[in-house]
Amino acid sequence: MQANMIEIFSSVQGEGRYVGCRQLFVRFEGCNLQCRYCDTENAPGTHLMCNVEITPGARRFREIMNPVEGHELAAYINEFLQAVPHQAVSFTGGEPLLHTGLLRELLPLIGCKRFLETNGTLPDKLAEVLPWIDIISMDIKLPQATGREMWPEHERFLRLAVEAEKDVYAKLVVPGDLVEADFDRAVEVIASVEPSVLLILQPVTPMNGVPGAEPWYMLELQQRALAKLPDVRVIPQTHRMMNQL
Ligand code: SF4
Repeated sequence: MQANMIEIFSSVQGEGRYVGCRQLFVRFEGCNLQCRYCDTENAPGTHLMCNVEITPGARRFREIMNPVEGHELAAYINEFLQAVPHQAVSFTGGEPLLHTGLLRELLPLIGCKRFLETNGTLPDKLAEVLPWIDIISMDIKLPQATGREMWPEHERFLRLAVEAEKDVYAKLVVPGDLVEADFDRAVEVIASVEPSVLLILQPVTPMNGVPGAEPWYMLELQQRALAKLPDVRVIPQTHRMMNQL
């Protein structure tokens, strides 16, 4: 199987539970959503070439032709892992679960923890690769971000991950103009599946006219979520503060 890739590089994880850990990022082209704050160029077919870092962390890249085969991708990844120990390989995008055929070939070949960064809306696709995934960072997408309600999809997705006893946490991007009823619904979805699941509240990085959330407001929302969930953390996109990729 093959897929169009955007980039492969080594950096620190900037978001969520594993912030600061050295990870290898493998970014797929294409997404099933169009979030209003998206910072990735995702339209299918827009990347003729994939940027591959020359040595891990050097931030100098060479280009390889898309699409890339699964075994070819495995070779690039394992070369990075031999050069530098990484906490995990982060499969990101776009939405990596649009490429489950390739992932089923690739994941068993990776000699490191496999970290899935996903929008959490494709439970059937998750089921296809779940045995080979170690860590799941699952977004909860608010209707105001995507223009669609996806509560049942999110609930099924989270339930699958919890029942498979995966290291899973949920991440919710908070804009300044948050619809609070939807925030409460997101918290309820997590609480109804498994209240011990960590919830990360990530203040949006303002872009495309989406307003940022005030610091006091993040605390208010954390307090509101803590009424239903025991572990709620406020963590911004720290890689931007550190000027990391
Ligand atoms: S799910 Fe992620 S990659 Fe897809 S549109 Fe939303 S922010 Fe962008």
